[in-house]
Amino acid sequence: MTRVIVVGGVAGGATAASQLRRLNPDIEIVIYERYRDISYGSCGMPYYIGGDVEKWDSLTNMTPEKFRDRNIFVKTEHEITAVNSKENTVTVYDKNSDTEFTDSYDYLILSPGGSPKKLPAVKDSSQTFSLHKLADLDYIVKFIKENNIKEAVLVGSGYIGLEVTENLTKRGIKVTMLQHDEQIYKNIEADMNGVLYEAMTEQGVTLKLNTEIDYVDGGKAVLSNGEKIDAPLIITGVGITPNTKFLNSSNITLKDGLIPINKNGQTNIDNIYALGDAVMTHFQHVPEMTIQSVLAWPAHRLAHIIANQLAGDRSITHEGLLGTNIVKFFDYNIATFGLSEKDVAEIPHFTVDQKQKNKSGYMKDASPIHIRVYVSKGSGLILRAAVVGTEGVDKRIDVLSAHTRLGGTVYDLINIEIGYSPPFSSPKDVINMIGYKAIEKAEDL
Ligand SMILES: Cc1cc2nc3c(=O)[nH]c(=O)nc-3n(C[C@H](O)[C@H](O)[C@H](O)COP(=O)(O)OP(=O)(O)OC[C@H]3O[C@@H](n4cnc5c(N)ncnc54)[C@H](O)[C@@H]3O)c2cc1C
Repeated sequence: MTRVIVVGGVAGGATAASQLRRLNPDIEIVIYERYRDISYGSCGMPYYIGGDVEKWDSLTNMTPEKFRDRNIFVKTEHEITAVNSKENTVTVYDKNSDTEFTDSYDYLILSPGGSPKKLPAVKDSSQTFSLHKLADLDYIVKFIKENNIKEAVLVGSGYIGLEVTENLTKRGIKVTMLQHDEQIYKNIEADMNGVLYEAMTEQGVTLKLNTEIDYVDGGKAVLSNGEKIDAPLIITGVGITPNTKFLNSSNITLKDGLIPINKNGQTNIDNIYALGDAVMTHFQHVPEMTIQSVLAWPAHRLAHIIANQLAGDRSITHEGLLGTNIVKFFDYNIATFGLSEKDVAEIPHFTVDQKQKNKSGYMKDASPIHIRVYVSKGSGLILRAAVVGTEGVDKRIDVLSAHTRLGGTVYDLINIEIGYSPPFSSPKDVINMIGYKAIEKAEDL
């Protein structure tokens, strides 16, 4: 019988195993997960801290028992330490029995994700956490309760930093956010991130730019600017490192620590597939440029593709990503897709900005929305889009991203049909306006 081993049991691994079982009842499937939990919603964890997710149980999806009912065998606390692609075997370390054994596969699916980067200045302090796995959430919530935490220091201003800041604030904890340089949330253009500062002022979050923690002194953090601040709880969110060290001794190609994959989801070795945060793929609309997308939805898309590849339908393939993403910070939403600002600069392009109300301007709750698109001078394709506002950001980024994914150009936006009545949009929606403006701008170029 064909035997599939899956490395990693959360977003990519658990989904790939489920999809494969749905498509093929006979294949033997084993998941190895090095930690306690499998198949949980990491994305919901910040919202459990703030109370929008009320039940811890609702963050978990499949358990090893439920998987066993579907004839999928899960081994938690089992870490894959090496892959021998010539022998088609993996070395497994069983943490509970402190023993090592070898297991063999016909196909291997790698979804090992990443681990949070550690800051040397705080890594040994007992009040410092990162929020990455479900057990981290448990430690943080327990620590907050047991120590009656009223203040916290949040290091980093990526999307996890923003979400955790919002949710700690909702829980009544006063947050000081530290950013080591002068730009917060670099995923959005520096001249469009004003809403983040507004939200922090409105919500009483203290922001310190160009500031790091030098060291921790009891319940205080000593900062690089010489200040000593209360820091009974410190949460770091400063990026992740792909969990691919265990592949160093294998013949699997790695690039900058990431696993490049092809359109089938295969690594350089035919019977080894990979997905999730640890993979390197390419942009769908600019295929010569690579992307690592540390988001849940690409892992789910690839899980479906890889399951179909293994179950026999090779026509379902991976066409690359746009990297569409969105973050909520209190009342504001920020979304982008496409190349980074740095990468877009390498391609001849022009930009179009449009600021208008998200719905008919006469509605009392109409609010501003700002879209910027970066348009390829050659093809008219939107290389990058950024959208900022309160309501309606999600709709605009999703329309632009779906349109681009299907090959639409900025000029086609004049004919895009946005459902209109005053509470939703305006007869010339901000999306249409981008199209009109782009046509004018292109004529002037
Ligand atoms: C707080 C938080 C909020 C997030 N919010 C969002 C969001 O709003 N939207 C979004 O799209 N994404 C979000 N994400 C990102 C999303 O969760 C990840 O992109 C996704 O989980 C990646 O899936 P993965 O399978 O690659 O890695 P993971 O889900 O991290 O799973 C990898 C698993 O592999 C295990 N593993 C690693 N190495 C080995 C080994 N050698 N042997 C055995 N097991 C191993 C790890 O322990 C881990 O459990 C969020 C993440 C976090 C932490």
